Amino acid sequence: MTTMSTLPDAEPTALADSDKVLANLHLAVPGVTRTFDVHDPATGQTIAQVPDFDAHQALDAVARADEAGRSWAATTTRHRADILRAWYDLIISNADMIALLITREMGKPLAEARAEITYGADFVRWYAEEAVRPAGNLRDAPTGGARLLTRRAPVGLSVLITPWNFPLAMATRKIAPALAAGCPVVIKPAPNTPLTTIFAVQLALAAGVPEDLVQVVTTTEAPAFSTAVLADPRVRKVSFTGSTGVGKVLLRLAADNVLKSSMELGGNAPLLVFDDADLERAVDGAFAAKMRNGGQSCIAANRIFVQDGIADAFVEALTDRLAALKVGNGLAPGVGLGPVIDHNAVTKLAGLVEDATHRGAHLLTGGAAPSHAGSFFEPTLLDHVPADAALARTEIFGPVAAIQRFSHQDEAIARANDTEFGLAGYVFTENLDRAFNVADQLATGLVGINQGVPSNAAAPFGGVKQSGLGREGSSEGLEEYEEIRYYNLALRPTS
Ligand code: NAD
Repeated sequence: MTTMSTLPDAEPTALADSDKVLANLHLAVPGVTRTFDVHDPATGQTIAQVPDFDAHQALDAVARADEAGRSWAATTTRHRADILRAWYDLIISNADMIALLITREMGKPLAEARAEITYGADFVRWYAEEAVRPAGNLRDAPTGGARLLTRRAPVGLSVLITPWNFPLAMATRKIAPALAAGCPVVIKPAPNTPLTTIFAVQLALAAGVPEDLVQVVTTTEAPAFSTAVLADPRVRKVSFTGSTGVGKVLLRLAADNVLKSSMELGGNAPLLVFDDADLERAVDGAFAAKMRNGGQSCIAANRIFVQDGIADAFVEALTDRLAALKVGNGLAPGVGLGPVIDHNAVTKLAGLVEDATHRGAHLLTGGAAPSHAGSFFEPTLLDHVPADAALARTEIFGPVAAIQRFSHQDEAIARANDTEFGLAGYVFTENLDRAFNVADQLATGLVGINQGVPSNAAAPFGGVKQSGLGREGSSEGLEEYEEIRYYNLALRPTS
């Protein structure tokens, strides 16, 4: 279903400023002559042309990173920390420009782009601080006669593959720990949103990251890229954020070269609201967990389970919040919901809504795609979603809230865990015992308790089951780019 409507256009000054930022980007890469177009999802217009690397050119990038990485691994951790801190400062001082870039290539409203910069830059600051923390340890051999020492060494050349939904944060959350650990990097951003990564890496060079240490490989040939690059013996690590299907392909490729692998994959997050929740807190939390980034987040609340006693009031309040959202170009003032990433996403969302209503879900607001050159979808709320609806099993990845109701805690937990995914979960209750009991029973890597935005650079982010392997952020995120070396020091007794 589509509706004809006029959506707010970009504010002219912001549009002109963003055009200036785009015009000043250095996109050309020597030796790479083919290019592909990058589009603004709010207008469908081409905003840039970036180099389209083939597999040979990607391997040249591997060679350059490998060469630069030799001296980087030998630098002191204080040196790396100082450079990362300088990079953080440059990201913050260029936040206006980065925000405009994020909004132009990805579509999210400017205020959300700024929030992403705060979040994304925080990984750089965190790893500047973390780089110098002692990482080894010393133990006594249980049988005596030896001291057992461990230290951490950089794992080596790291291939980083990122999605389009957080163009800055997905890149910094991988690049910063890799550099802190002493690794060279080849990063392949999503073809929809390569510009923010290119600009952020240029800032890293300005901050003192050596030339060639971080290679940005933009390409429309993702399978050829990964097949060639992950088989290269100089590569020792792959870190991927994206869909579970692609993650499985990459894990198979990684197996042949026995690469250390980190996988941040898809989610199907349950959000549980109990009768004893604070209604306002629960509505705020659910709104944030569902609608942040237009619902295009791997930890977005995909299935909202609400207990019978609070359900009517909760649904009414959340419907009002969604219906009040202004949809339009992310550069227009007051817009709370920008476009989804492309027209395929619009078609997918329309299909999910149609399937759910066909199976008996009640459509309380939204449900349509405004007819527009950009790719928009209305903020939508469906109540009484049956468990067999496609959107109860699929990652919605858009501004569609799907409510299911429940009577008993155990039933809600069983339904929440009835998925192959296990990235995030959410619990809303004012009862502390219930909060921990339910959080402990949710089969997810992270749980927001009375909290709709649980991500934090200082916390280990990652999934269980088919949502992934490894963690990003915190000290655990640094270990993903390190390997442990162990020395056995023999000790003779002396008298
Ligand atoms: P995607 O898997 O289609 O693409 C992600 C990246 O992988 C892109 O750069 C893409 O070009 C690349 N890619 C695709 N096929 C490839 C191949 N054969 N070899 C190498 N690279 C390949 O995902 P997307 O649509 O960009 O992002 C949405 C997905 O990402 C959702 O499933 C979402 O849940 C997930 N995600 C997960 C997290 C997390 O931390 N767990 C964070 C953000 C997004």
